[in-house]
Amino acid sequence: MNIILLGPPGAGKGAQAKRLEAERGMVQLSTGDMLRAAATAGTEVGKLAKTLMESGQLVPDEVVVRVIAERIDALDRRAGFTLDGFPRTVYQADALADLLAQRGMVLDAVIELSVVDGKLVERNVGRFACAACGEGYHDRFKRPAAEGVCDRCGARTFNRRTDDNEATIKSRLAVYREQTAPLVDYYRRRGQLHSIDGTAPIDEVSRQIDAALGRPSQHAEMRPLS
Ligand code: AMP
Repeated sequence: MNIILLGPPGAGKGAQAKRLEAERGMVQLSTGDMLRAAATAGTEVGKLAKTLMESGQLVPDEVVVRVIAERIDALDRRAGFTLDGFPRTVYQADALADLLAQRGMVLDAVIELSVVDGKLVERNVGRFACAACGEGYHDRFKRPAAEGVCDRCGARTFNRRTDDNEATIKSRLAVYREQTAPLVDYYRRRGQLHSIDGTAPIDEVSRQIDAALGRPSQHAEMRPLS
């Protein structure tokens, strides 16, 4: 199954993509992760991307489309994939449709995680991740059970993204509204969109995604407290 997770920065796309990878083997394809790796490696793409990422602007469409096409070509198709952070413009969505059609592949669903703007600055500013396994944490919402030790792998080193500061987040949100939000209608018109409340508790978001994808969920239904 091949899907897109669509939503503003901090909506929970990365966490859900990691979960789908762990539970269903669907490969997480995060263009942000690919560009950060290229920036760390100092490649031509990475040098170009670095300044744009630090200012919260988008990397040019042709560059990102080339990066994702190479990654899709290297995939084991049986596994399926979750696109996380791609497409981000109508140009990229058209390019994705072309590149899947050329390869005889299909897009099965687009899941929108919607979160109102007011919550997003706080969600982004507090995040950090385990440097070893990538498990995500948050200063307020999800601290490791033992301070300074990753719950999942026991490592003691954590990273914060340089673009998770208030000024850059505000420009990333503005870019999202202007350039990416039109994709909600784009996919709704094509009958592919499933919209989910990204502010619900994480297990509930997981359950709703699983319901949209049409397979039994490992996440129990939340019942209202009586
Ligand atoms: P993310 O990790 O998805 O929040 O992306 C971090 C940054 O990488 C973005 O603010 C952009 O500068 C760049 N980026 C990631 N994905 C794309 C994309 N599909 N198109 C353009 N720029 C991207």
